[in-house]
Amino acid sequence: MSIPDISREKSAALYERAKTYFPGGVNSPVRAFKSVYGTPLFIEKGDGSHIWDADGNEFVDFCCSWGPLILGHNNASVRNKVMEVMQNGMSFGAPTALENELAELILSNNRFIEKIRFVSSGTEAVMSAIRLARGYTKRDKILKFEGCYHGHTDALLVKAGSGLVTFGESSSAGVPKAFADETIVVSLNDMEALRAAFDEFKGQIAAVIIEPIPANNGLLLQSKDYLQYLREICTENGTLLIFDEVISGFRVGFEGAAGYYGIQPDILTYGKIIGGGLPVGAYGASAEVMDHISPVGSVYQAGTLSGNPVAMAAGIAQLSELLKPGFYEELQAKTAGFVKAIQDFVAERGYNLKIFTVGSIFWFAFTDQEAISTAEQIDPLSMLKFKEMHRELINRGVYLGPSGYEVGFISAAHTLADLETTKTAIFDSLDIVF
Ligand code: PLP
Repeated sequence: MSIPDISREKSAALYERAKTYFPGGVNSPVRAFKSVYGTPLFIEKGDGSHIWDADGNEFVDFCCSWGPLILGHNNASVRNKVMEVMQNGMSFGAPTALENELAELILSNNRFIEKIRFVSSGTEAVMSAIRLARGYTKRDKILKFEGCYHGHTDALLVKAGSGLVTFGESSSAGVPKAFADETIVVSLNDMEALRAAFDEFKGQIAAVIIEPIPANNGLLLQSKDYLQYLREICTENGTLLIFDEVISGFRVGFEGAAGYYGIQPDILTYGKIIGGGLPVGAYGASAEVMDHISPVGSVYQAGTLSGNPVAMAAGIAQLSELLKPGFYEELQAKTAGFVKAIQDFVAERGYNLKIFTVGSIFWFAFTDQEAISTAEQIDPLSMLKFKEMHRELINRGVYLGPSGYEVGFISAAHTLADLETTKTAIFDSLDIVF
């Protein structure tokens, strides 16, 4: 049975004011709730797996700040470490021991990179990785996949058309055609298209960039064979393979998707979890590749707040928790149980819904297809069902990211009781949607 909408009076008033200050009332577009019901909820507080909005509504949160909060909100170890470090000042623009500490923590527990550089966002990490690959190979073209998001750097805001290989159609005004022309876009999970692109642009492709676990356009899981093929074709062609692990890094295991699939990329990019909720991104590679970066090499990259001590502190505290024995096993078992219960319910009812999952990531796909591995397989009309479900869930105290293309995250702070309440809310919502 449908229940009344929650009160959004205060959030709605804040949104009206925000619209006079910010384009669309937000500082990042998806937050505007354009593809779900209602105005955006203005969040006041988070603790563990729960958040509270300006009207006092409480939610179990599965957005988790779009992924960074693998320990949940307001985690005590992260908070205490940040507060301790803040006592000594916020930023120096000079090296600090905290940068070494975070780097050591990562490099000594990650077989896939030898050197790292900290930046302040995932976008910056990807932008720098692309420049590094171009500087290293002395080539200009890059190849990306339809349905993979890599932040808002110009060269990657390019979408594919329907052809095998599409060129130069930007997804954003303001990206010069000349930039977009250097980006080749290919469908995911299509070995032939990849081979055709490499044949057509022989000796010109500096890098292939992929989210090895594509999680920005639904969860488009790729086969290991495909990722392995990608590795091989890059090696064959002297092209660097970049794994954009801004979401998957430290999420599906400490070594991210590279560790999960056992595939060695040439450059890795990180964001989100690495900063414990503060703005940190990073890119890493072999020492040989990384030493092409300034001041050793000629590829320039810099940042006023790069390696910021407070942000490093948050990263150190969060990543230290992830290294505790059993951390990932517990999180993944919890997620698997949650997803299985929903799958069983859906199967019993015969609803057209699949829940795809890996690690502690899950995605609701309103479809009868057994697998979805390319962006083209998603029926845009299915998003209407998500919109209905989102409304019902919000009214029942469950917060999912406000778009059916976004995945959900489970954190270490989600209790079995939270997941029980959420399952009931999901079952009731689905009975209304279908
Ligand atoms: N790469 C991936 C895979 C992402 O999911 C994102 C953001 O969602 C980015 C890059 C950009 O990161 P940021 O939003 O920190 O700039």
